[in-house]
Amino acid sequence: MVSWREAFKGALMTLLWSIAWIMAGLGVIVGAGLFGGLKLVEGPLGAKVPQPRPEVMIPAAAVGIFIISVGWMATFYKILSETVMEGGQGLPDARTQPGLICPLCGAENQPGAKFCRNCGAAMK
Ligand SMILES: [Zn+2]
Repeated sequence: MVSWREAFKGALMTLLWSIAWIMAGLGVIVGAGLFGGLKLVEGPLGAKVPQPRPEVMIPAAAVGIFIISVGWMATFYKILSETVMEGGQGLPDARTQPGLICPLCGAENQPGAKFCRNCGAAMK
């Protein structure tokens, strides 16, 4: 169980990190727009209208969206693992269940294996 205090703390951290990732991702897109991603073209009323250069803005948008989505998911994963899974009730950690080492050939076997999958020797 997670207390409401921890849940709100996790939610607040997620929100703050989400804002940070969105700023970073939009920063890439806006930065690309400011530095060569836009060109001024003659608009219908004779005014100069900025138009995106697809060869610059499409990669920039891809990078920006990548930063936002992966950053957000990583944040969610991190906050979740630090708050919800705290206290030993989380997912079983593979590192806490080391494989059995065969006494004969040294091959690593599944925990609880009775015989070595490599050489067939009986495991202790
Ligand atoms: Zn073996």
